[in-house]
Amino acid sequence: MNCKHVRDLVLTDYSDGQMPPERERRVEAHLAHCASCRALAQKVRQDLADPLKSAKAPAPDAFVWLRIKEKIRQEAAIEDPGISVADMVRNFVQPFRPVAVMACLFVMLGVGLVIRQNLSHQQPYMAYMMGAEAQGDDVSAGIEQYFL
Ligand SMILES: [Zn+2]
Repeated sequence: MNCKHVRDLVLTDYSDGQMPPERERRVEAHLAHCASCRALAQKVRQDLADPLKSAKAPAPDAFVWLRIKEKIRQEAAIEDPGISVADMVRNFVQPFRPVAVMACLFVMLGVGLVIRQNLSHQQPYMAYMMGAEAQGDDVSAGIEQYFL
């Protein structure tokens, strides 16, 4: 390691104690035989690192802390409103979905059969409604026959 590299590390990771052990050993080996780098390391430790070690994070004002906790609780409530009525309905219906589809199909089939049966009784009227004129029938006679 040359002096420039060691000085860069002394000003950053070495003083922060954030170096891999192998690299830290190499820096210390350089500091052991290089007086100018050792002086820089000592100055950095004395003027920058040591004063910060005794510094404590300032505790927030009790009222501010209370407001922060309240705000966090409100935001958490907005993000997680619990289970809604729609969710409860969805959870209840979910397992019955195939059964519901089959029931709907049967109901539609039944309604279709009933409508078809009724239509067969109303043939003249339906023939009129569906354009019996095109087939050349006497429509007026057919509809009068049906209603009278
Ligand atoms: Zn050096």
